[in-house]
Amino acid sequence: MTIPKTLAAGRQYLAIPGPSVIPDAVLQAMHRAAPNIYAGELVDMTHSVVVDLRRVARTAQHVAIYIANGHGAWEAALSNVIGPGDRVLVPATGRFGHGWADMCAGLGAEAEVIDFGRASTFDLDRVGEALKADTAHRYKAVLATHVDTSSSVRNDIAALRALMDECGHPALLMVDCIASLGCDRFEMDDWGVDVMVSACQKGLMVPPGVSFVWFSDKAAEARAGLARVSRYWDWAPRANPAEYYQHFGGTAPTHHIFGLRAALDLILAEGMEQVWARHAHLARAVWAAGEAWGQEGPFRLNISDPALRSHAVTAARIGAPQGTALREWVSSQIGLTLGIGLGMAAPDDPAWHGFFRLGHMGHVNGQMIMGMLGGIETGLNAIGVPHGKGGLEAAAKVLGES
Ligand SMILES: *Cc1c(COP(=O)(O)O)cnc(C)c1O
Repeated sequence: MTIPKTLAAGRQYLAIPGPSVIPDAVLQAMHRAAPNIYAGELVDMTHSVVVDLRRVARTAQHVAIYIANGHGAWEAALSNVIGPGDRVLVPATGRFGHGWADMCAGLGAEAEVIDFGRASTFDLDRVGEALKADTAHRYKAVLATHVDTSSSVRNDIAALRALMDECGHPALLMVDCIASLGCDRFEMDDWGVDVMVSACQKGLMVPPGVSFVWFSDKAAEARAGLARVSRYWDWAPRANPAEYYQHFGGTAPTHHIFGLRAALDLILAEGMEQVWARHAHLARAVWAAGEAWGQEGPFRLNISDPALRSHAVTAARIGAPQGTALREWVSSQIGLTLGIGLGMAAPDDPAWHGFFRLGHMGHVNGQMIMGMLGGIETGLNAIGVPHGKGGLEAAAKVLGES
């Protein structure tokens, strides 16, 4: 009998774009007996969590918490401002815009999607044309994804706001920051965002299960104008509860609140500016390795312009079936899990196996990034994918820059 040779024992590294690496402080905060849900520590902590959730989103306005994943936050946000017969505009830059747009149909609303493909940002001229053509102001909202987690493009939300203002269009600006919050700079109030959705399992470093909708006074007015709002998704009692249970529309997600408190402590102790700077610096190291590998052979970063790349996730292609072979090799042989390619090809298309993604969101530091990149280069060598030399040196050089 041959003993399978693998170097995978040891701490596993889940380097996918969510759920992200969970800090020990978060795990430890959650490992405890069930708390009193009527009074005491949990109740006090919830108030502080709400205050700090506003700080992370850079808003002085409102936030509602949901026991749900990101899809739940999508539906929650729409349920408060979009009614049957309403119309929204969705500039889509990868997979996630389509997902949010699709939820509109379930609410009897109509989403007009402008598809910008799988490797580019919004073309603001085309979005502007659609807004200007809507002279009757039928679009009630524009739904934008800040970072599309499938393509890893980062869209310019402030520029989209400026465009809407320039066109004099009164639609609400609604933004999906599920991948970007706590990774890429986001300024809800300064950028004039009306509704922002996020979830706890990416930049916020908590196991999946809680998500959030932040909303402006203008969005609150839009909610007040709807004929009816589903009781469970209604953000009004959640953001302004008369009783504690109304924060959550029922029993509190007890352990998630403890975990979230610990995560917000880490983020705010580091400081938002530094959190963003760390992600930007780590991302530059990832790109440097990717660009060096791409000097020879099939390796390509999906987004060619660095100014348009997310700091939280990087999508790459190496040709089928090497993408899948690489993921399987690093997972089984060295304990590293990379993300699947998402939305780049249909799952039954052989080309699907040519893509993968690197998650670098949340609780990651320089040595982890070097470990991930070292793992990828080891895998490329092991499965025989030709690639340019010097990827690790290039990444190390970037990390060493002050
Ligand atoms: C992860 C993600 C979602 C979906 O979140 P779930 O928690 O899986 O429902 C939506 N949008 C973006 C941009 C994401 O990254």
